[in-house]
Amino acid sequence: MKTHDVIIVGGGLSGLSLAYYLEQNAINYKLLEGRSRLGGRVFTITKNGFPFEMGATWFGEKHKRLMALVKDLKIGYKPQVNGEKALVDQRPFGSVGFINIPSSEETTYKFTKGSFSLIEALSEKIPALKIQLNCKVNSIKQQSEYIEVNSDSESFCAKQVIVCLPPNLSQSINFQPALKTSFKNTLHQTHTWMGNSVKIAIAYENDFWSNDGFTGTIFSNQQSIQELYQHYNKSGYGLVGFINQKFNNLSVINLKEKAIKQLVEYFGEAAKDYKEISILNWHNERLTTSKHNQNLIPHQTNGAKSLREPEWKNNLWFGASETAKENPGYMNGAVVRAEELAKLLLKKIKA
Ligand SMILES: Cc1cc2nc3c(=O)[nH]c(=O)nc-3n(C[C@H](O)[C@H](O)[C@H](O)COP(=O)(O)OP(=O)(O)OC[C@H]3O[C@@H](n4cnc5c(N)ncnc54)[C@H](O)[C@@H]3O)c2cc1C
Repeated sequence: MKTHDVIIVGGGLSGLSLAYYLEQNAINYKLLEGRSRLGGRVFTITKNGFPFEMGATWFGEKHKRLMALVKDLKIGYKPQVNGEKALVDQRPFGSVGFINIPSSEETTYKFTKGSFSLIEALSEKIPALKIQLNCKVNSIKQQSEYIEVNSDSESFCAKQVIVCLPPNLSQSINFQPALKTSFKNTLHQTHTWMGNSVKIAIAYENDFWSNDGFTGTIFSNQQSIQELYQHYNKSGYGLVGFINQKFNNLSVINLKEKAIKQLVEYFGEAAKDYKEISILNWHNERLTTSKHNQNLIPHQTNGAKSLREPEWKNNLWFGASETAKENPGYMNGAVVRAEELAKLLLKKIKA
């Protein structure tokens, strides 16, 4: 069995960014990803040329390391236009009406060709041989000279292993010897950001809803669609947002019916003539969200210092966004932690 300097478990933004930095520094590594695709919680589905953002979408200037990476990779981005007015639905406790959106000092951006352009740009910089898809890691064992990483069908070995899974999900891996009890407890208590969210994206032929400073921004506390924002590109007009999590036990078909009914109530029959609709319930994604996640408070223990402490004599590290000291849970957190780990590993390997 060939021994790598580093094995990265998980090909989301944190694992891929780490691979990108290791690649730039000629480190011998392998990245193992459980799904048949890269990107994890960054997931754009393109339908009829229209990028449906089913995962991470927005970022800002304050996300400095992400912005630096985006500029380095020359990926296009543009401001999110939320208009001057939002439709606010307070039924059944109030009415449906418009409010003025206070002008924000900070511009929010999204990727021009979809968030997945970030994942594509990173993976283009990594030789295909260094990435293994459909490789769900189920055990990690410390041996005398190296660490063994096992999936159902294959085994790999490395001097250093970096687990870039949401901390809460890392418990699905059997670690031998067991991790410290206090560390295991922290993993268990760490909320996976957006792990229980339900994303919705709808594309139309035209933006029939747009009028007089209203671009499609909708907020509602009790109805199925909770937040919605305009999402145009040259292939069409769309609305992208979130379904209220209290409906996350409904089937996707039921959620679609409820969402369209809600839009018909606001905009009339034209809302039924959508070109495409897509809903993704992250609560059911077993390579993102553990069943326990919904019992945790949003962002619980995110960014805790103990999550960045190595195990097994400094050879086993944890590296998803939730472990970052800045913006844990967000895309910027994933990049911040990947950069930090890359520096630590370089120092260790080149020592
Ligand atoms: C609906 C939604 C909306 C969001 N919106 C935003 C936003 O607007 N702005 C923002 O900044 N952030 C947003 N986020 C958060 C952002 O997506 C995450 O912070 C970031 O993508 C996390 O990257 P990661 O690599 O740390 O984790 P993940 O993306 O979760 O990557 C973990 C990877 O590990 C893989 N994996 C899991 N188990 C195994 C295993 N046993 N073996 C091998 N591989 C495994 C998974 O398949 C996955 O690819 C959103 C997230 C969601 C879900």
